[in-house]
Amino acid sequence: MRSTVPVPGSREIARVIADWFSRGARDLPWRREAVGDPGVRRDPYRVLVSEIMLQQTQVSRVVERFDPFLAHFPTIDRLAEADEASVLAAWSGLGYYRRARLLHAAARHIQREHDGRIPTDPARLAELPGVGRYTAGAVACFAFGASVPIVDGNIARVLFRVFDRRAVQGDAADMRWAWETADQIVRASSGHVPIPAINEGLMELGATVCVPGEPRCSRCPLAALCAGGAAGTANQIPSPRKTTARKSVFCSTALIMDRRGRILLERRPSPGMWSLMWQAPTLEREGVRRHAGAARFAAWLGVGVSALERLARFRHQTSHRTVHFECWRVRLDASQARPISASRRWVEPGELPGIGLSSPQARMIASAFSASSPRRGSPRARTLPR
Ligand code: SF4
Repeated sequence: MRSTVPVPGSREIARVIADWFSRGARDLPWRREAVGDPGVRRDPYRVLVSEIMLQQTQVSRVVERFDPFLAHFPTIDRLAEADEASVLAAWSGLGYYRRARLLHAAARHIQREHDGRIPTDPARLAELPGVGRYTAGAVACFAFGASVPIVDGNIARVLFRVFDRRAVQGDAADMRWAWETADQIVRASSGHVPIPAINEGLMELGATVCVPGEPRCSRCPLAALCAGGAAGTANQIPSPRKTTARKSVFCSTALIMDRRGRILLERRPSPGMWSLMWQAPTLEREGVRRHAGAARFAAWLGVGVSALERLARFRHQTSHRTVHFECWRVRLDASQARPISASRRWVEPGELPGIGLSSPQARMIASAFSASSPRRGSPRARTLPR
């Protein structure tokens, strides 16, 4: 249902932002114009992939990973026909692997239900796995030029500030207001100002000028129209929402290599964090405030361990958890037969690029290959008590 929220100056805001965007848009790999297909502004497959990648991931990271992913899967059909392990491996470095699984499922849905062609209608797009109202609108608008509003975190922040709405981060009522306001702007501008340039311009402004925290109002094309900027309240909008404490997880990870230079990996359980990704054997403890300790860790490994050498300690933040990693190089007892269980296997170094690893695990495993001798300043190897 159409909203009745009055939005003064909607068309002026739209005109200014579209003009600013057309003059100064960043050159991003998914913004290339499509050629030769009437009604198509940009390649919808590239738009879909980029929008899924950009959810909760910085543009700079997506820029690094976008072309390599497209080189693996240049078309929707190639993605649909790929096996899940290769999709996860190509997604490596982007995090939030659930998105990769959903994109893969969306490609299969498009192949099965739409003959391999990405739908143009936002309602059909919103039926795809992993595609919500924002992503459906973005694909319909950026690829096919549809006159629909879209609101992501950047656009919401710009609108809150321009209209001096004292919004709270992530508040449902404030987000409803943002969608209604974006809808008013699109309706007021349709036929007068290109809608894709309005939507993408607002996103671009939120990402580069009207940034979280302190906005760069002196560089802003909307400065003369912005109520929050004029009132001096913009840097407090939106206000942070009360957060619940993050959970802590303590992970002790064993880097074990055999004489042939292979590394031992295991598959993570599903469901859960980094579901079904591969990792070096890791003892994970939630609800405690410390790592397991060397003797207990060795006992958990269930193999004959002659020495442990701690390589690194670091923290990794996920959306809901702080994961404390402790990374050990483990030397097996010479008498050890084979430290293999059903979920573990030896992996050749050359296989690693094709294996889905979470980013902290990829980091640790890279260190196992580079640190062939103890690093300066690292703790000495600890020989376990017999
Ligand atoms: S004037 Fe400042 S607060 Fe207003 S939209 Fe521009 S950058 Fe944001």
